[in-house]
Amino acid sequence: MSFKAFLKKLGDLVYPANIKCVCCGRELDETADFCKPCYKALPLNRRYCKYCGAPLSGSVCYSCSNGERSFCKARSPFMYTGNIVNMVRKFKYDGAKYLFEPLSKFMADRYLKSHFDCDIIVPVPVHKKRLKERGYNQAEELAKGVSKLVHVPIENSAVTRVKFSVSQTELSGEEREKNVLDSFAMQNSEDIVDKNVLVIDDVMTTGSTVDEVSKLLLENGANKVYVLTLAHSCLDKDKNEVSALLS
Ligand SMILES: [Zn+2]
Ligand SMILES: [Zn+2]
Repeated sequence: MSFKAFLKKLGDLVYPANIKCVCCGRELDETADFCKPCYKALPLNRRYCKYCGAPLSGSVCYSCSNGERSFCKARSPFMYTGNIVNMVRKFKYDGAKYLFEPLSKFMADRYLKSHFDCDIIVPVPVHKKRLKERGYNQAEELAKGVSKLVHVPIENSAVTRVKFSVSQTELSGEEREKNVLDSFAMQNSEDIVDKNVLVIDDVMTTGSTVDEVSKLLLENGANKVYVLTLAHSCLDKDKNEVSALLS
C-alpha cells in the first residue's frame, strides 16, 4: 500500500466516509444526522396550543377550549407534514429503525424545554398482532431515545392494547374516537400509582388515543399525565381553523 493510500485509509477510519443523511440518504462530509437541506426542511412546531401542542397561531385550539382533556399538557417538536410524514412512514412501514435515535433527540429537547416533570414513561402500546407484523413498537423505540436523554425510566407493562384497530390515519375525527374506545386496558398499575407519567406516541392527530391512555392511567392512580409525540397533525377536520391558519 502506498503512503497516500495508507493516509486515505487512516482518514477513512477517523472520518468514516459512509455517513448518510437519515432522511434522504445523501452522503455527508461530517458526522450529522441530517444533510443541511433536510435539516432546514424539518417542520418545527414553533407556535402551538398551550394545552395539546397543536400547531396554532393563537394560544388555545378549538378542541381544547371546547372539550376536556384528561392529560395536563401535550407537546410535539414537529408538525405532521413535509419530510416528517415521509420519515414516519419509513419507520412505520419500511422498518427504518435508524430514524428513531435522531428523531427522539428532538423529542427530548422539547420535553426539557417544556419543563415537564415526569417520573416514568409509558409508550402507547401497539396490539400484539401489529407488533408481530412490524417487529417493534414505534412509540417504544422513540421512548427509548427520550428515556436515555432525559433520564426517566420506561414502564412497558402498565398498559396493554386489547383491541386491534384499523389505522387511525384512514378515519375521520369521530370515527377515530370510536375506534380507540376501549382499545387499552390496565395490566399493571403498581408502578404508576402517585406518579407523573409521560405518555409517548409517534403522531398525535385528534388526541383521542393519548386521551384514552391517560384516562386509564389516571383512573388507576397516576398523579398527572403529560404527553409527548414526535409530530402533531395540522390537517384534521376538528382543527379546521388550525389548517386554515397554516395554509
Ligand atoms: Zn438529507
Ligand atoms: Zn389544544
